[in-house]
Amino acid sequence: MINVSSIYLNGYDGDVKWEFTSLLYHEMTHVFQWNGEGQAPTGLVEGVADYTILRADYYPPAFAKPGDGDRWDQGYDFTARFLEYCDGIVSGFVGELNKKMRYSFDVKYFEDLTGKSVDQLWNEYKAQYGN
Ligand SMILES: [Zn+2]
Repeated sequence: MINVSSIYLNGYDGDVKWEFTSLLYHEMTHVFQWNGEGQAPTGLVEGVADYTILRADYYPPAFAKPGDGDRWDQGYDFTARFLEYCDGIVSGFVGELNKKMRYSFDVKYFEDLTGKSVDQLWNEYKAQYGN
């Protein structure tokens, strides 16, 4: 079930059709994604949803740039950029991570898929983009 606030869209200063599409990409991801039966960090769940709008090229100008953010599970666009980085290391990473998150969640999943812990990945990600 997806509810879109008409008040929000009414007050949106910009291309409403574009914003609506972007919002739907994000919300549709929540319909199809797994969250480890509630065990996955909210920041990761929202990050996967924003990763969809990033890959669909439906992200706003204010979207995080590669290397932005303080934590891998900060959420939304920050985590989306980190997931993009992980997907660059292991092609199909986000899809595989999502599959593993069907019944449970463990940060070890990052290591299972890439051979590196999530902290190591985050440090290398931050080092690569120099901020
Ligand atoms: Zn969301």
